[in-house]
Amino acid sequence: MTHHDPECIFCQIITGKLPGKIEYHDEQVTAFHDINPIAPVHVLIVPNAHIPSVNAVEPEHEAVLGHMFTVARELAEKLGLAERGYRLIVNTGEHAGQVIFHLHMHLLGGRSLGPMLARRS
Ligand code: 5GP
Ligand code: ZN
Repeated sequence: MTHHDPECIFCQIITGKLPGKIEYHDEQVTAFHDINPIAPVHVLIVPNAHIPSVNAVEPEHEAVLGHMFTVARELAEKLGLAERGYRLIVNTGEHAGQVIFHLHMHLLGGRSLGPMLARRS
């Protein structure tokens, strides 16, 4: 059985206890639109199991982590991003500004996304 944290916002979206604009769901992975999008397409792809961050990743998670990339590719095609490109981001911990401690992949696209990271002058 998939492990959920009842306190976790994303676990609650996955289990339907909180509303979410779900774009995709299967036994391993759920994808839903970010509540505060920073690009025309901003979808979060998450494992159904509560993995807090990349810092908690173990070899047993490799199947679901790999599957997240297949879902990302399928959603990029479905949402019209594949041809012109898109960015996948996984923030981890304080320096990356991770806010929700349920591992998630941001799928961003629909406009030119600029440099990968703002340079310090
Ligand atoms: P992080 O900074 O942890 O990588 O990103 C967390 C993301 O989750 C943010 O882009 C934020 O807008 C989004 N988010 C936070 N709370 C909710 C929510 O309740 N529903 C949805 N759909 N997205 C959320
Ligand atoms: Zn969770």
